[in-house]
Amino acid sequence: MALNARLDHRNPLVFDTHELGRRPGALQRLTRTIDAPTDLGIQGVIGVPEGAPVELDLRLESVMEGVLVTGTARASAKGECVRCLEPLEQVLEADFQEMFSYPDADDRGRPKAEPVDDAEDDEETLFLEDGLFDLEPVLRDAVVLALPMQPVCQDDCPGLCSECGARLADDPDHHHDAVDIRWAALQGLAGSLEDGEKDELSGAEPGVDEKQEK
Ligand SMILES: [Zn+2]
Ligand SMILES: [Zn+2]
Repeated sequence: MALNARLDHRNPLVFDTHELGRRPGALQRLTRTIDAPTDLGIQGVIGVPEGAPVELDLRLESVMEGVLVTGTARASAKGECVRCLEPLEQVLEADFQEMFSYPDADDRGRPKAEPVDDAEDDEETLFLEDGLFDLEPVLRDAVVLALPMQPVCQDDCPGLCSECGARLADDPDHHHDAVDIRWAALQGLAGSLEDGEKDELSGAEPGVDEKQEK
């Protein structure tokens, strides 16, 4: 291997195409289970925990300009319901397809600056390096696309009570009586006035005594 190779064949997300060869039409299938890299998912929303197993099924196909990689990643993603904030786990299946071009593909008499329609989109061309390719960016994009931006624990999750924050799925009959709320507010006010008198020297402000039930 060349000394300046940037890709490390020991990295589980780096694949070797030497066995496949460069004869167009050659096919190779392979499966590999890897440990999820850091931040695989939508940060702060849902993702595959670092080190969790990710099953990869790949199909490598040798084509004229490089290797076409088609595959599926399966893993278990963890996150939080956006409505009720309960932790949730979801089976993730992400499909991807990506072309890894031979770095010398453009040196074969093809004019480099040829305006090809396909090249108009802002997708970056990925290249093979010494016959190796790095699946990580492809996997990341596929996983993010396959995950929900707003995961919910169940499709009809009713979320949290806007008054007290109780999880409504646990307590479908949950409600607050308007009269009770006003009464509670009066009680709270009376309570904080008392507290205010007692705590005069400690500088506590009456009225900021918010009661939060969980
Ligand atoms: Zn929920
Ligand atoms: Zn409530």
